[in-house]
Amino acid sequence: MDYIWTPWRMKYIQGNRADQGCVFCQAAEHEDGLDNLIFYRGKGLFMILNR
Ligand SMILES: [Zn+2]
Repeated sequence: MDYIWTPWRMKYIQGNRADQGCVFCQAAEHEDGLDNLIFYRGKGLFMILNR
């Protein structure tokens, strides 16, 4: 089994971001565009790009 290791993401993963809430709920609250990267909204779902 191969493991994918991305050590440059550890700072982000280990960061305490609990006070900022859910990234998906925050994105959904804003107007679609380059700021939130949502490119499609449907009934009960949305599609967002990975920053
Ligand atoms: Zn959420």
